[in-house]
Amino acid sequence: MKRMEEMILKEGKILPGGVLKVGSFLNQQVDIHFMKEIGDEVARLYKDSGATKILTIESSGIPIAISAGFAMGLPVVYAKKNKSSNVSGDVYSTPVKSFTHGNTNNVVVTKEYLSADDKILIVDDFLAHGSALTGLIDIVNQAGAEVVGCVAAIEKGFQMGGDRLRAEGYRIESLAIVDEMTDDGITFREQ
Ligand code: 5GP
Repeated sequence: MKRMEEMILKEGKILPGGVLKVGSFLNQQVDIHFMKEIGDEVARLYKDSGATKILTIESSGIPIAISAGFAMGLPVVYAKKNKSSNVSGDVYSTPVKSFTHGNTNNVVVTKEYLSADDKILIVDDFLAHGSALTGLIDIVNQAGAEVVGCVAAIEKGFQMGGDRLRAEGYRIESLAIVDEMTDDGITFREQ
């Protein structure tokens, strides 16, 4: 998605540790018009997938999942990072190592929100080492549902999670793939 590459070049800030900050349009502050374009692009990519539900992980995946949900007319479920008092009863649960904080969270989804006949499209803001997507895939598998594919708004190709999941046979679509980012600039993968 050319616009994603343009937004990264215009607004992105490279931080130490291979972190790309896009807080001005994707994470902390949300550009709602661009978010609509993202949702429309996800819908275009997965219009024939037969998806019945979108699954993401709190918190930065939620705006993207909501926009895609509107564009596709699908309900959105998000995994919570810690079992808390408002997530009661039976849950699917899996450990996910946080790229940005380094700690491991137990990620949970209440069982009643995923069923064995669901076809799940998984959405997140970033794809780095792939822990978040791997955890969400595990939750879908626990529910006996099917993963029709995954979308990351931004994949950092040099952290390899996307290519590992593709090699495992999953359809992974990223709206922009950063193959290299240094003080001299950002290189995108041709798609
Ligand atoms: P992974 O689990 O694939 O290693 O990392 C993906 C998760 O870590 C995403 O949910 C995202 O929130 C966060 N993340 C990974 N890399 C970055 C980054 O460069 N910038 C930001 N803002 N978040 C990131």
